Amino acid sequence: MRVCVVGGGGREHALAHVLGRTAEVVVTPGNPGIPGSTAMSPEEVDADLYVIGPEAPLVEGLADRLRQRGKLVFGPGADGARLEGSKAWMKQVLADAGVPTAGHGAFTDLDRALEFLKTLPGPYVVKTDGLAAGKGVLVTESLDEAAEDVRAKLSGAAFGDAGRTVVIEEGLRGPELSVLAVCDGTRAVALAPAQDFKRAGDHDAGPNTGGMGAYSPVPVAGADVVDAVMEKAVGPTLACLRAQGIEYRGVLYAGLMLTPDGPKVLEYNARFGDPEAQVVLPRLRSDLTALLAEAAAGGLRSDPAFVADACVTVVLASEGYPASPRSGDVIEGVDEAAALPGVTVFCAGVGSDGAGQLVTAGGRVLDVTATGATIAEARDRAYAAVSRIRWPGMHHRTDIAADAAKGGT
Ligand code: AMP
Repeated sequence: MRVCVVGGGGREHALAHVLGRTAEVVVTPGNPGIPGSTAMSPEEVDADLYVIGPEAPLVEGLADRLRQRGKLVFGPGADGARLEGSKAWMKQVLADAGVPTAGHGAFTDLDRALEFLKTLPGPYVVKTDGLAAGKGVLVTESLDEAAEDVRAKLSGAAFGDAGRTVVIEEGLRGPELSVLAVCDGTRAVALAPAQDFKRAGDHDAGPNTGGMGAYSPVPVAGADVVDAVMEKAVGPTLACLRAQGIEYRGVLYAGLMLTPDGPKVLEYNARFGDPEAQVVLPRLRSDLTALLAEAAAGGLRSDPAFVADACVTVVLASEGYPASPRSGDVIEGVDEAAALPGVTVFCAGVGSDGAGQLVTAGGRVLDVTATGATIAEARDRAYAAVSRIRWPGMHHRTDIAADAAKGGT
């Protein structure tokens, strides 16, 4: 089977890598570090299956356009991708489906938003309604900071039109968990859970990012937790979408907080997480191509199976990320790192200097990924590989999976 992966980051490299076990893979646009990358548009590529990685083309309706041409596509249409494209609508779906989530209000009016904010006990959570590359969420203990953020978002100053509606939520506390479910419109199967690290700095200091690392499996998320998420969140959501005439074929990614009252959904994404995909997919023992093709065709039959080995990924970021990432720095040591046992280096924001040398071309540059018999071993291997790679201004977190490796969360 020939599979076309749409996107050009570390998630798409991981998808191509694992699909490549059983399929011929083309990646559009890909990047100079991903084998099989092509400059052709998805519509120009002839493939048996299209797997759409990022949220933006899903929200813009790429899956619909390909399906209209009779193509088999893994990824929801624009109707389903709205779960990620509008947080206000997503919260409405959660309410309709009876899914546990944080209390919230959605506002376009400043005074009403500020009034609602004052009724909350804190911490305060302010989100852009629209897409903001994972950076549209503020969580703060300070009412003043939250109010300032509401002003900046609603005025359009902070995130343009994406922020002209804000969702304000009660702040929840607890360990976070991502459960990625593969859906065929009616049925859903869970992939192995993962935990990601959103903040730029160690111990969750610094600004939110697209994600600085991840690991899988997650010790706090046993089969009972995953079953509860599928039963209380994913299943009812899929049924609710179906009742609205939305045939959701793709990944429904539930971002959850494990609160004392049980798992609550913080957000849905309409695609594989990045960097969660980089730690979940390498652990697949069963055939990813068959799984995604079945879901795309509306007839999931197989259940995904995973190896017991753990997987850890550490994101290497460029100088200035996330505020203003610098491009063009020459990357060294990737081959040496990738030659270490259990290590795969997925290429995200990389370009080429034209002479065969990889250079930085974005914020999150490389995902240094390793498998091992335990989280501790996978983590040690990943960081050993990180130490072989360098470029001016490179930075990364040093505490990815550190607590889990010691048996905590
Ligand atoms: P989101 O993009 O909605 O997942 O938000 C990004 C991050 O903000 C999450 O991974 C959480 O760390 C945090 N967050 C979002 N909503 C809440 C909430 N209601 N309470 C506490 N933290 C939250």
